[in-house]
Amino acid sequence: MATALDIAKHNTNAAPVSVSDSARAAARDALSRDALSIEKKAEFTVAAAGQSSLVGLTRDELKDKLAAIGVPEREQKMRVAQLWHWIYFRGAKDFDEMTNVGKPLRAALKDAYTLARPQVVSEQVSKDGTRKWLIRMASTGPLDKGAEIECVYIPETDRGTLCVSSQVGCTLTCSFCHTGTQRLVRNLTSAEIVAQLIVARDCIGDWPDATPPEGAFVPTDGGRFVSNIVFMGMGEPLYNTDNVVAAISVLSDNEGLGLSRRRITVSTSGVVPQMERLGAEANTMLAISLHAVRDDLRDVLVPINRKYDIAQLLDACRAYPGLSNARRITFEYVMLKGVNDSDADARELVRLLKGIPAKINLIPFNPWPGSKYECSDWERIERFSEIVFRAGYASPVRTPRGRDILAACGQLKSETEKLRARARMMAEQGIGAEGVYAVGNGE
Ligand code: SAH
Ligand code: SF4
Repeated sequence: MATALDIAKHNTNAAPVSVSDSARAAARDALSRDALSIEKKAEFTVAAAGQSSLVGLTRDELKDKLAAIGVPEREQKMRVAQLWHWIYFRGAKDFDEMTNVGKPLRAALKDAYTLARPQVVSEQVSKDGTRKWLIRMASTGPLDKGAEIECVYIPETDRGTLCVSSQVGCTLTCSFCHTGTQRLVRNLTSAEIVAQLIVARDCIGDWPDATPPEGAFVPTDGGRFVSNIVFMGMGEPLYNTDNVVAAISVLSDNEGLGLSRRRITVSTSGVVPQMERLGAEANTMLAISLHAVRDDLRDVLVPINRKYDIAQLLDACRAYPGLSNARRITFEYVMLKGVNDSDADARELVRLLKGIPAKINLIPFNPWPGSKYECSDWERIERFSEIVFRAGYASPVRTPRGRDILAACGQLKSETEKLRARARMMAEQGIGAEGVYAVGNGE
């Protein structure tokens, strides 16, 4: 997916009006706008060949890097703390900024490593202020030109949400999701996940002493410009749990990037065996892509349902560590015209979730080139939302954001594809590496 979601705020305390006028107007607006977004090439440094970047690494990984250049064991912890502060608190881009690190060590660090970020290939700015970056990760070898992923920033006046990717593409094939049409290339490393926040902070000037670009829409409440993170970009985070958990430990570290775990949400299509581990080890908020209330329909919309059905999924939700009324699970429900949007569906949804501290996010379907579904009419969404609301659930409707730049939920897709087997074989045999990357859907 992916999300350029914006959770429209309403319904929690308000009268039973389910879709706010502003949400509706914004959604209609977004739909009718011409794609007049701004696209520009960004300038960022990329790691020089042979040198690896320290940006995004965990404390343990940094320690290993220091050991590799001969920093004595007794110093390593203190040096890691220094690097941590400069990289994650101050956003340093040059070792020379690290004034409390002695010159000889700075020189050794410079010789061996960089503070390069992944390359921002392009930045698109929607008319509503949403930003989408196409980010190219460092190459992993001679046959890899660098995997590309998308990352979306959704600013509001009182918060800024960054939607990060956990994989390049997705192996799952949810029938309404654009990302699902892209074959998985690979899991992102934890450093590549963390680097998405670093890139976002660079681009919107969210470091001490930095300023946002002229005219940029950023929160005005005095808090961080990126205050929330959602794992709702490309990929299924719970197919990459090790790296997602490690990345969360870096993102939430109070001496560095400092995001509260309560402001980090991991969205899963329902990888049941990994859910408990996520709660126990990462302690983040959980979102479930439910989208259907009957197994026969969910089997089609979210095919992982054939492996873990709705009953198993909801049992895993009930057992999610830390679940309480203050820490509810968000159930995402994409509104597909004539498919899952009837009154009976809404009533069944309420019945199924009984006893689970839950929020329900109704997501207007975001179309993408070639998609076979339509978004439910606004009247239908209102009616659906009202049934859910009357049953006692907050039922915000996500205002689609960044639709004009294909940055909304389910619209993300990069052109990186798996190296085709034959191309790989040819390249390995030195026959020629041209065309090894299939572009687009590449089938
Ligand atoms: N793979 C994870 C996280 C990424 S998807 C998951 O499926 O939960 C993030 C959210 O966007 C999911 O709820 C997903 O179902 C939803 N989504 C995907 N395609 C969409 C589309 N075209 N319109 C609206 N929401 C979509
Ligand atoms: Fe899209 Fe999420 Fe399904 Fe993957 S699991 S295809 S990202 S909705």
